[in-house]
Amino acid sequence: MIEIKDLHKSYKMGSNSLHVLKGINFNVEDGELVAIMGSSGSGKSTLLNILGMLDEADSGTYVLDGIPIKNLNETKAANYRNKFLGFIFQSFNLINYKTALENVALPLYYQKMPRKQRQEKAMKYLEQVGLKEWSHHLPSELSGGQKQRVAIARAMVAEPKVLLADELTGALDSKTSYEVMELIQNINDQGNTILVVTHEPDIAQMCKRIVHLKDGVIVKDEKVKQVRAKVNV
Ligand code: ATP
Ligand code: MG
Repeated sequence: MIEIKDLHKSYKMGSNSLHVLKGINFNVEDGELVAIMGSSGSGKSTLLNILGMLDEADSGTYVLDGIPIKNLNETKAANYRNKFLGFIFQSFNLINYKTALENVALPLYYQKMPRKQRQEKAMKYLEQVGLKEWSHHLPSELSGGQKQRVAIARAMVAEPKVLLADELTGALDSKTSYEVMELIQNINDQGNTILVVTHEPDIAQMCKRIVHLKDGVIVKDEKVKQVRAKVNV
């Protein structure tokens, strides 16, 4: 699904440059649930942004579902992003004046799907994340955990090949984090490929594989026995 070879990325800092990714190699197969773990500044978001086609590497290759991601014009990149990738962010990134349902339906609007179909599909995904009753509420009327569920439904609604999550539990307390991770595990159980960036070891243990990033290189890449996030309430 994802093949990365010798990826490098530097940021220009005035006359200097900061070498952030220093030769990253890894593959992700269909259906994996991978944590990318590392301390602050290790390059996790930089890597995820490249995987998410929000940014480009300076050198190296990235092949997504058989397609080399290189020198794409903005229209083509946007099309691929919409078709292949779903994003989940720490700060949810919901649109405040749109209801939960409208937020979830938004990617389908960009795909020019007719309104009725959009709403039906968005409702199906809201139901999957347990928020059917909240569809007409605004983000300001939802808890953090509920907002992240809306964001997860929105990331899934266009049925992307890969879900990319950057610190998706970073703004949540531990109980709510576990609930969100339980949902992520269930979505992965259905066969979806998911990459989770985190600096929290207990969140990483809920994935099936942990890629450890340190100073711009992968220092360890291990399969782990997945800890289920089942919450007892
Ligand atoms: P955190 O856990 O704090 O989110 P991270 O592992 O996601 O950290 P990155 O955001 O990838 O780290 O940043 C890696 C390094 O690159 C940091 O030193 C950061 O300051 C720098 N950096 C990130 N984005 C930019 C940018 N757009 N311009 C310049 N430097 C950047
Ligand atoms: Mg980051």
